[in-house]
Amino acid sequence: MSETVDAVVVGSGPNGLAAAVTLARAGLTVRVLEAQPTVGGGARTLDLGLADGIEHDICSAVHPLAWASPFFEAFDLRARGVDLLVPEISFAQPLDEGRAGIAYHSVERTAERIGGPDGAAWSALLGPFSRSWREVVALALGDKRSIPSGLVPGGLTTAARFGAAVLEQGTRAWNRRFAGDEAAALLTGVAAHAITPLPSLGGAGTALLLGSLAHAEGGWPIPRGGSGAIVAALVADLLAHGGEVVTDHPVRTRRDLPPARAYLFDTTPRAVLEVFGERVPTKAAQALARFRYGNAAAKVDFVLSGPVPWAEPEVGRAGTVHVGGSRAQMAAAEAAVAAGRHAGRPLVLVSDPTVVDPSRGSGGLRPLWSYAHVPAGSTVDVTEAVTAQIERFAPGFRDVVVSSRCVPAAHMSEHNANYVGGDIAAGAVTMWQMVARPSLRRDPYDTGVDGVYLCSASTPPGPGVHGLGGWNAARRVLRREFDLRSEPSLAPPPPPR
Ligand SMILES: Cc1cc2nc3c(=O)[nH]c(=O)nc-3n(C[C@H](O)[C@H](O)[C@H](O)COP(=O)(O)OP(=O)(O)OC[C@H]3O[C@@H](n4cnc5c(N)ncnc54)[C@H](O)[C@@H]3O)c2cc1C
Repeated sequence: MSETVDAVVVGSGPNGLAAAVTLARAGLTVRVLEAQPTVGGGARTLDLGLADGIEHDICSAVHPLAWASPFFEAFDLRARGVDLLVPEISFAQPLDEGRAGIAYHSVERTAERIGGPDGAAWSALLGPFSRSWREVVALALGDKRSIPSGLVPGGLTTAARFGAAVLEQGTRAWNRRFAGDEAAALLTGVAAHAITPLPSLGGAGTALLLGSLAHAEGGWPIPRGGSGAIVAALVADLLAHGGEVVTDHPVRTRRDLPPARAYLFDTTPRAVLEVFGERVPTKAAQALARFRYGNAAAKVDFVLSGPVPWAEPEVGRAGTVHVGGSRAQMAAAEAAVAAGRHAGRPLVLVSDPTVVDPSRGSGGLRPLWSYAHVPAGSTVDVTEAVTAQIERFAPGFRDVVVSSRCVPAAHMSEHNANYVGGDIAAGAVTMWQMVARPSLRRDPYDTGVDGVYLCSASTPPGPGVHGLGGWNAARRVLRREFDLRSEPSLAPPPPPR
């Protein structure tokens, strides 16, 4: 491990790999050091030994950001053979008495199903954002320090509308828009991805970004074969450009690092403080130490003998299902978690990839991905709570469960050190931390130590498989550490003749 390289990336999550690809394409020698035996961090698809031929996405499963992110747009997953399969129903929200909110890929169809004034209100809120999704992405997925380059003058209108909508849906005013419970619950299920009390500005920003993408070009796709297909495409490109990946290599001290001109950490600020200790200037160290981690997820992966028997069959055609009931019920569940308690009826996210990708099934069995929101550091096995929540809206669910595995929140960091206490966002998604992530420093990727940068979901734009933290940090490294002014192309190789 002593051979010198130009740049070392610590961690092989989507951000780490995006950084490594960018640097390697600029002609640098790049080595990725990964603590785990497998590459890909929060985008791995693994055989958990639950049933022959069945693999699970151990973290991320659904990927609106894999087409909407400017990094992936330039990298072009589709041209590299990653099939982003778009469900006709982006997400669903089962409600009591067999009812459900359904968000189709088409905003018009969604509004039509909701019907009446709430249908029109849904369309008025998300229709314009889904049509101007590039401007929404430029706003929400920028580095929060510079004026987004994708924000053309006309985009100022979108920015103003987006800000107003965040204020409306992120505060007590949130019930003004919808009279019935269907549309309100549908939007709240998306806001809940932020794992914050509801309503909250962080939750509203999340709901409006992801809600718009659900109705935009690429919808909420599921990669054929699982999230690992995205990782495989990134790794293939890195290797093709001379990069290398070393697994089973946790970086705990400086001795674990080979000599290099630049180090990019696809980790939380904690790892940088641990590795560089007193070399981090006091003010920067204090700011990084103040970075707050959020509440958590406990994962439950099931193997089923058939589809989930949702009371409303239309829910069974959705790529993602938010299970938590009405807006008020979900707000109560998230309030319990925020207060450090387990909700009696927790918020559960569910995805059955075979809805769009039959190849994920085997021998009549299929995987089901789910996780529940729990307090940070929870050691509770939530299998029964998750099963009961799904059963509530899908009577007979227990009968199709063949096997399952729970990773309690406190154990999430064993397969990915970035998920401190089970915080899958690698840092709380509060409005403050979405702007000052990981601190208020002018350059959010700079750690204050010469040549050492952060590039993970703990930096802007935050959580999600978009590669933007890695791309942004790598482009700074090229300019500052290597004086390379022109950005390397990320375009895929031309197809063979
Ligand atoms: C249960 C769950 C569900 C999710 N669902 C979705 C979803 O559907 N869609 C979506 O877009 N996002 C989802 N996410 C979030 C998404 O996975 C993350 O935001 C994303 O993976 C962050 O990428 P990253 O590169 O910053 O870090 P990570 O993907 O977390 O990767 C960090 C890597 O660094 C390694 N590492 C950490 N410390 C060290 C060290 N000291 N030395 C060496 N290696 C180290 C880790 O092992 C890991 O491989 C989900 C996450 C979880 C956990």
